[in-house]
Amino acid sequence: MTDGRSKRYLIETWGCQMNQHDSEKMAGILVGLGYAPTGDDREADIILLNTCSVREKAESKVYGRLGRLRRLKTANPDLLIGVVGCVAQQAGEAIFRRAPFVDLVMGPRNLSRLGELIEEARREGRSIGLARDDDPIVFPSGTTARASGPKAFVTIMEGCNKSCTYCIVPFTRGREVYRAPAEIMAEVGALAAQGFREIELLGQNVNAYHHGGHDLASLLRMADRVPGIRRVRFTTSHPGHLKQAIMDCFRDVPTVCNHLHLPVQSGCDRILHAMNRGYTRARYISKIDALKKSVPGMAFSTDLIVGFPGETAAEFGETLQLMREVEFDQVYAFAYSPRPGTEATRLDEALPEEAKLERLRELLSLQEMIQTRRNQSLVGGVFEVLVDGVGRLDNGLLKGRTRCNRIVHFAGPAQRGEFLDVRITHAHSHSLVGKLLAERGVA
Ligand code: SAM
Ligand code: SF4
Repeated sequence: MTDGRSKRYLIETWGCQMNQHDSEKMAGILVGLGYAPTGDDREADIILLNTCSVREKAESKVYGRLGRLRRLKTANPDLLIGVVGCVAQQAGEAIFRRAPFVDLVMGPRNLSRLGELIEEARREGRSIGLARDDDPIVFPSGTTARASGPKAFVTIMEGCNKSCTYCIVPFTRGREVYRAPAEIMAEVGALAAQGFREIELLGQNVNAYHHGGHDLASLLRMADRVPGIRRVRFTTSHPGHLKQAIMDCFRDVPTVCNHLHLPVQSGCDRILHAMNRGYTRARYISKIDALKKSVPGMAFSTDLIVGFPGETAAEFGETLQLMREVEFDQVYAFAYSPRPGTEATRLDEALPEEAKLERLRELLSLQEMIQTRRNQSLVGGVFEVLVDGVGRLDNGLLKGRTRCNRIVHFAGPAQRGEFLDVRITHAHSHSLVGKLLAERGVA
C-alpha cells in the first residue's frame, strides 16, 4: 500500500489445468493478504509467473518474460517478482543466478507457504520454497479465488508415480498424495452452494486416485449425489488406470459427462514401450471401443508426442493410423522435447527438429480433417449447452459447452451458468455454431 490504494497482484499462468488451478489457489492466498487483482503489470506490487517445464519451449518463454520484467523491477524496486510452479521446482536457486532481480522461487507443492515466503522475501530480500517428497502436502481449500463459474476445478491428488521416460512432471510435482474424500466432497458441496454447476476433478494421474477404500469411481458416485452439481469431468487419466469401475460411471452416473481425455502418446507398441507407458495400442483401443459401445455420443481427446527418439516413418504412420481408427474430437500434439534428467535423453537416434515439426504438421492436418468431418456430422442435432460466457470472436455470440465438451457459439439472450438446448446449424473444425431452442432454465 503506497499511495493509499490497495496492493495489487498479477499471476501469469502457463501450462495445464493443474497450473491454472494452482494460480486460483495462490490468488486466494493473496486476496487473504489484502491484495486485489490487476491485469496491468505496471500497477502490480507482486507478479508471480506460474510456470510449466513440460517442454523446453514453455520453459524458455518464462525466461523471455523475466527479461521484460527486469525493466519494471528497475523502475519499481518494491515490486516483488516470483517464479513459481514446475520451472521453479526444477531450476531452484539457478533462477536467482540467471535473473538476480527475482525475489521468490516456489515449487508447486509449496503453495500453502506462499504468504510466509512473501514475508521472508520482503524481510530478507529473497526466499525459496522447494518441496521434497517427504514434505506433507496441504491442499489449500476454502480460500481459493476461482475464475467465475460455471465450472470449478477441484484437486483430488497431487504428483505422479509413473515414470514415462520423456516426462519431467514426476520430478517437479513429486510422488502421488491423495486428498481425503470427505474433504473433497465438502469442497464440492460448498461449490454447489456458491452456484457452480460443473466440476472437474484434477490430478496428473487422476484415475490412480485411491484413499481408504475409495477410488475415482466412488468419488464420481459421491459427487453425483451433491445437489446442484449437474456435470462432472476429471483429468488427466492414464490409460493403464482406466478400470472397468470408472468406465461404468460414464454409462451409469448421470452427472459424469460423455467426454474423456485419454492421452495415448503414440500408436506404435515399440514407442509406447520405450516411453514406459505400460499399455499397448490394442489395449488402448479396446477401452475406447468399449466406451464407444456403451455410452451414446462418447467423445475422446488425447495427447500425442511425435519424433520420440528413434521413431521411424513407419512408426509415426502407426500413430496416424490410430487417429483414423479412434477419430478423436481433439488432439494436443507435441514435438518431443528432451527434458533434463529424464531417461529418454539417454536414448540414441534423436530426430532433427525439422523432421519432428514436419511430422507434427502432417498429424495436425490429418486431425483437422477428422475433426471437421466429425463436427459436420453433428449439424442438425440438439445439444444441452452450459453457457460459460461470450465467445472470443468479436461477433457478439455467446459461448457454451456440450456435455461431450464441444464448444458451441450461439446468439442469446442467455446468462452464464444457464443450461440451454441449442440446435447445431454450422460446424467448424474447432467449434460449432447453433441456434437457441426453448430455455431449459437456470439451474
Ligand atoms: N499426466 C498426463 C498424462 O500422462 O498424459 C499429462 C502430463 S503432461 C503435463 C501433458 C502432456 O505433455 C503429455 O501428455 C505429453 O503428451 C506432453 N509431454 C510431456 N513431456 C513431453 C516432452 N518431453 N516432450 C513433448 N511432449 C511432452
Ligand atoms: Fe508425465 Fe507419465 Fe506422469 Fe503423465 S503419467 S505426468 S506423462 S510421468
